Amino acid sequence: MSRGSRISNILFVIVMIIVLWMIYSFLSVKTVVDVSYSKLITEVDAGNIQEVTVKPEQAMLTGKFLPDKSAEPSNPKVPKGHDFKTNLPPDYEALLTRIQEKGITIDIEHPSAWSSMFSPTTLFMILIFLFPIIFIYMLFSRQMQSSGSNQAFTFGKSKARTVDDSTRKITFDDVAGVDEAIAELAEVVDFLQSPRKYQEIGAEIPKGILLVGPPGCGKTLLAKAIAGEAGVPFFYISGSDFVEMFVGVGASRVRDLFEQAKKQTPCLVFVDELDAVGRQRGAGLGGGHDEREQTLNQLLVELDGFEPNSGVILLAATNRPDILDPALLRPGRFDRRVVVDRPDLNGRKDILKIHLRGKSLEGDIDVDVLAKRTPGFSGADLRNVCNEAVLIAARFERTEASMPDFEEAIDKTIAGPERKSRVILEREKEIIAYHELGHAVVAYHLPNADPVHKISILPRGLALGYTLQFPEEDRFLQSRAEMLDRITGLLGGRVAEEVKFDEMTTGASNDLERSTEIARAMVTQFGMSDKLGPLTFGKKHESIFLGRDLSEDRNYSEQIAYDIDLEVRHIISECYERSKKIINESMAAIDKLAKILLEKEHLGREEFERLMKGFAKAST
Ligand code: ADP
Ligand code: MG
Ligand code: ZN
Repeated sequence: MSRGSRISNILFVIVMIIVLWMIYSFLSVKTVVDVSYSKLITEVDAGNIQEVTVKPEQAMLTGKFLPDKSAEPSNPKVPKGHDFKTNLPPDYEALLTRIQEKGITIDIEHPSAWSSMFSPTTLFMILIFLFPIIFIYMLFSRQMQSSGSNQAFTFGKSKARTVDDSTRKITFDDVAGVDEAIAELAEVVDFLQSPRKYQEIGAEIPKGILLVGPPGCGKTLLAKAIAGEAGVPFFYISGSDFVEMFVGVGASRVRDLFEQAKKQTPCLVFVDELDAVGRQRGAGLGGGHDEREQTLNQLLVELDGFEPNSGVILLAATNRPDILDPALLRPGRFDRRVVVDRPDLNGRKDILKIHLRGKSLEGDIDVDVLAKRTPGFSGADLRNVCNEAVLIAARFERTEASMPDFEEAIDKTIAGPERKSRVILEREKEIIAYHELGHAVVAYHLPNADPVHKISILPRGLALGYTLQFPEEDRFLQSRAEMLDRITGLLGGRVAEEVKFDEMTTGASNDLERSTEIARAMVTQFGMSDKLGPLTFGKKHESIFLGRDLSEDRNYSEQIAYDIDLEVRHIISECYERSKKIINESMAAIDKLAKILLEKEHLGREEFERLMKGFAKAST
């Protein structure tokens, strides 16, 4: 329920109360005066009464005075000609005769069931009781709607939302960097717009299309764009909406969703996060038939149930295609897969341009530089960077975001926010500086390492300091030499600490973990070890229930395991020696750099490279 309708609801209740109150007071405004039996007789005799009505069941008589007469002439509050009522004794026949003799009209009134039930008083009482009930009901229903579940009433209904026209249409113009995916999906749009063309030529448009790719790369966005482009009804539901506490709900939701869709062809049904329902069956912890499984079965039934050209196109998105039930991927179900991958350099440029629209920027914003600085960023990351940058500008009361704001936003996205508040001892700061410079200087001297973009000893996120290294271009393959240089660079931090302070700290634990991981992968996954040869060892085992790779199936002997460990250690220690050699040779430069870094707290790429070149010249 929207805010507006909530307010109007409350207003409605208030108005109702006022109106009822007015009705009641209007009804009771008629003055009815109690007149005693004896007084009645006097008044009758005096000829002051216009008419009477006898109500035998209530032993009561009501009546009306003549327009200019009153029971209480002394009381100005009692109007002339008002109504009165009198209680009757058991035998009142004599009174009636007397009244009749005076020529006063007599009416007898037996109460009907209706009139007694709907007397103003009883009505009012009923309403008084009803009000709290209505009110409580309204409160509850509002709460349920606002919590978005509304479960009590719509168990089995699909929670699919149709995207209405009032929301701004998302089109392919809002999506960039995934041109291949757009090209594939444009065909679907065309089909939805002119199905005749395809039917005549006998082409079958796929029933189901699966968008696959890492999170934040625009799968959901693409689906919405298709809907916007095609201009047909669009049912959107997230896989997790199907999965409910109550058994059977998911299945009936699926059924309901497709029923709705079939009524509105041509249309698009989009199941986001398909992996939430589509995981391999038989993998639940609780044994065979769990809720998710029923839901999945129903989904399969529905997928088979509609004809290829019926005008319903099912779109689904997942970032874990590997854990989907194979039945879903069989031909005739999701028979087309569209990969929505991380954007490359040009893609990032275009995405940045999209998200920079409508933001107020200083003139010097260079999209090329930003795109180069953000390899591996997803569309969502880039959007985040743009938004962060203007937020930073706003925080400093500036009206336009500048390039440094973007730099800061990128660093923040990579490593978390700067933590200026964190107090670090001078001594620790020195160690951190040498550690980071160790990484940087080693990387600088290695032929295959990525260039250093930034060295900082300001704590950020969980890291105490950081050295950012990016490849010059997007890379898809890594060579053995590059991996070795990477390990060497990672070890540089620890080595610098050791050489300078003759001490080891905990600061290097993450570096060691990563370098060990790389070395192990070189041996077991990429076949890069001379000793063990081009074989892979161990099979990554996905725990389907948890959706993570948890364990590794060992498909090799104890002897091989031992050899792997030896080989990994061999790689690491070789890299360590190389690292140590470089650090030892450049200690003079590192000392000088450390002084500068401790003062400035961070060094950019140009400055770092300039200084390094200067030292090289000085030493020759
Ligand atoms: P996914 O569904 O793949 O996890 P989303 O579609 O939800 O990712 O992307 C989240 C947001 O990131 C989008 O709303 C959009 O603002 C931005 N975004 C992601 N990919 C792109 C892209 N290729 N082009 C433009 N914006 C993108
Ligand atoms: Mg999504
Ligand atoms: Zn480190």
